[in-house]
Amino acid sequence: KVDRRWLFADQLGPHFLDEPGQPVLLIESQQVFRRRRFHRRKAHLVLSALRHRAAELGDQAEFRQTSSYTEGLEGKLSVCAPTTYAARRFVEELEVDVLPSRGYAIEEVKFAGWAERRQGRKLVMEDFYRDVRKHHRLLLEGDGEPVGGRWNYDQDNREPPPKKPTLGVGAPWWPEEDEIDEQVRADLDRWEQDEGVQFVGEDGPRRFAVTRDEALQALESFVTTRLHDFGPYEDAILADDRWMAHSLLSVPLNLGLLHPVEVAQRAEQAYRDGDAGLASTEGFIRQVVGWRDYVWHVYWHFGDDYRRRNQLKARRKLPQWFAELDPDGEVEAKCLSNALASVREDGWAHHIPRLMVLGNWALQRGYDPVAVTDWFHRSFVDGYDWVMVPNVVGMALHADGGAMMTKPYAAGGAYINRMSNHCGGCRYDPKKRLGEDACPFTAGYWAFLDRNREQLSGNHRMSRAYAGMGRLKDLEAVLEQERHRGASPP
Ligand code: SF4
Repeated sequence: KVDRRWLFADQLGPHFLDEPGQPVLLIESQQVFRRRRFHRRKAHLVLSALRHRAAELGDQAEFRQTSSYTEGLEGKLSVCAPTTYAARRFVEELEVDVLPSRGYAIEEVKFAGWAERRQGRKLVMEDFYRDVRKHHRLLLEGDGEPVGGRWNYDQDNREPPPKKPTLGVGAPWWPEEDEIDEQVRADLDRWEQDEGVQFVGEDGPRRFAVTRDEALQALESFVTTRLHDFGPYEDAILADDRWMAHSLLSVPLNLGLLHPVEVAQRAEQAYRDGDAGLASTEGFIRQVVGWRDYVWHVYWHFGDDYRRRNQLKARRKLPQWFAELDPDGEVEAKCLSNALASVREDGWAHHIPRLMVLGNWALQRGYDPVAVTDWFHRSFVDGYDWVMVPNVVGMALHADGGAMMTKPYAAGGAYINRMSNHCGGCRYDPKKRLGEDACPFTAGYWAFLDRNREQLSGNHRMSRAYAGMGRLKDLEAVLEQERHRGASPP
């Protein structure tokens, strides 16, 4: 007889059950929304996904709507290891059978073995990714060599944005809301109005898949109509085309509705059917089974204290306009205002505004990494603790002193100007570091380098940047200007 399976709200796909008819326990707890201010869109997605799964399972599931998790738990239960340290500690204290986690390309014990075999050599995503490709036989020729002769087509996938306002690809797949969404919206309105629950961001039509069926439709639509155009411009930003050719599949993936290997296999099939080019397909597969899995494993590999690393001693609080997603549209810096608007309106921005604009801004201004991690986690529809701790601490803020990435992702206005079409319409000038129209990213870049000279100047990958700084005749004036900029919106 199979155990009753307790499913968390990010374990909603069929692969979290041992057999299709297994009895299920689902718990919806309001408490989590009382403790922290999540994006309204995110609360909607998670509740909608959970309630859709409960409705789909019918009598097979017991669905508890309680104020806390512990209220709904009794009887013999098993659970797949949940996705955060806190939730793991919680289930380990209960009388629940905790199984290994599911839903990633590589099992946790396998990653641990892989990391150990490196014998102290730095972990490198590219090496991990190649092993994942081999393990699952993704995009390989019969002899085990990579299709096309190369493992990585990154150099084909770094185009600056095209000189047109939109990419001109087909629209993403959009879901249709149903009565469950209506009920979720009514409940959230009530919680806000009567029960003092607070959210950030704006409500609006649901944009992402929340059921297995919807997720499969979204995947199908992406690989047949948009994957082909994904690669070349995946690192670029177009002010008037928020979605470009991105898949929007991180939400159903992180809800556990899709397995990353099935997504990668479907993308490979599209390539083999002639629906998508090799560079785009490889770039997408690298995101889904490379980066995504790597971030998951790094989260566990570095331990629970990793989240508190703060090598650059960044201690600034998030100013209100940033924390609240620029609700009054005060930010004039086009790139930043656009990225914040995207998050405010949809709880989403693709990975480049996240890293090159929002993360870069937080890095330059010295925002506290714990607060930034929490902000990304709460404000993004696909943000989870395991996603955001490595992405923010390791990748965006370099708070781990380089354990994950070799150098900080700090960029001035010139780089943003190359990879986006924001600067033409901005009141600042990306080439200027001094004066009324000095670009805050350009000036902020030099101030960041100066502030962290002791920590970073010994890093050989930063030597050109420091040599460049040494040639600036107006550096003192730039630093003085940045000291007076304060925390007001740029
Ligand atoms: Fe952003 Fe600077 Fe360009 Fe304005 S000029 S859009 S602030 S990079």
